[in-house]
Amino acid sequence: MSRADCYYSDGSPRACPECGHPEFTEKVKDFIDFGVPGGGPPTEVQYNCAKCDAIVAYWAYGGFDPAFSGAA
Ligand SMILES: [Zn+2]
Repeated sequence: MSRADCYYSDGSPRACPECGHPEFTEKVKDFIDFGVPGGGPPTEVQYNCAKCDAIVAYWAYGGFDPAFSGAA
């Protein structure tokens, strides 16, 4: 499986490029701060492989970073 095969056309991860695992954990890295408890909607989310913990994708402000999927 090539690296490009591990991502959908929008850059979202389909499988981990390192180990092929199809499940990920989403870590909110930043969010809109409305000054309310719990915070606002996320603006940046990092996707880590649920098996080997490799960083497989990074979503920010409505789109996936193409640097990970090689789609740029
Ligand atoms: Zn992995």
